[in-house]
Amino acid sequence: MAHTFAIGIDIGGTNTDLGLVRSDGECLARLNFSTTDCTSADTFVDKLCSTTGILLKDSDSGVLQGIGIGAPNGNSLTGCIEEASNLPQLSNLPLKRILEERLHLPVAVGNDANAAALGEMVYGGAKDLQDFVTITLGTGVGSGIVIGRRLLLGVHGNAGEVGHSILVPDGRPCSCGRRGCVEEYASARGICKTFIELRNATDSYNGMLDGIADNQLTPKLIAEAAQQGDALSIATFERTGYYLGLACANVVSHIAPQKIFLMGGPTQAGSLLMTPTHKSFDDNLLSIYKGQVEIELTHLPANDAAILGAAALINL
Ligand SMILES: [Zn+2]
Repeated sequence: MAHTFAIGIDIGGTNTDLGLVRSDGECLARLNFSTTDCTSADTFVDKLCSTTGILLKDSDSGVLQGIGIGAPNGNSLTGCIEEASNLPQLSNLPLKRILEERLHLPVAVGNDANAAALGEMVYGGAKDLQDFVTITLGTGVGSGIVIGRRLLLGVHGNAGEVGHSILVPDGRPCSCGRRGCVEEYASARGICKTFIELRNATDSYNGMLDGIADNQLTPKLIAEAAQQGDALSIATFERTGYYLGLACANVVSHIAPQKIFLMGGPTQAGSLLMTPTHKSFDDNLLSIYKGQVEIELTHLPANDAAILGAAALINL
């Protein structure tokens, strides 16, 4: 049987990555171009269409389902990238309509977090699941909620902001203007903040990250120090796992999913993060859900996850 294909396009503030994705999740060809070089919407659309055309030549032997576009603030209901602070030239551009007219293929637009959830459903660990949640740890904390194999969009297309549920009343100030959101504890910057708080509370820290300025810290550096036994770095991941497990236990009370998948850069810390996350999750889970929900790492390969997620948006 001939394979079906989809084009996945991940639009970022710096680069736009495109891939031709086979129905089994194999990314057969990749291309990219600089988003920042496209100073107007017209030049961006021209570049997007010509690059897509090159990829389409590789799909001759199968049926092309369509084009999925993942972008920060991509709205699947309007088909636009809304209020794109990193992509001002694309703000409120009706990408779906423009590309469907130019390329004569179905086009779907969605945000990064929705793309991650659908990527997991179509190509990853949720192929056989009905209800699941994906949580992406990165600059922020994104999430996608799938119920009955349908992505939860909400009335205005912006459902599923687990990262901005309040975890700590009067906690750390969040980029959203409120305090104590999950994002301020479980994102890359949240992990660094936890390390800094612990370091500031210690008189005698002389560990591996002693000379590293606050603004030079990354979860990767802290994970490397933890792996070499740095007590403060280990404590940072224990604290992060505590918060993340608590957040996941709250998610279960609302959604009762079969699984929660975690993804994003900080999850590369592996058991440093996952062991305390599982413990906190078990400690805080409402008893009626015990043993019913698993937390695991994404099954999508890290370097293709964004393109696979974008391609999966065509299944919205
Ligand atoms: Zn917030």
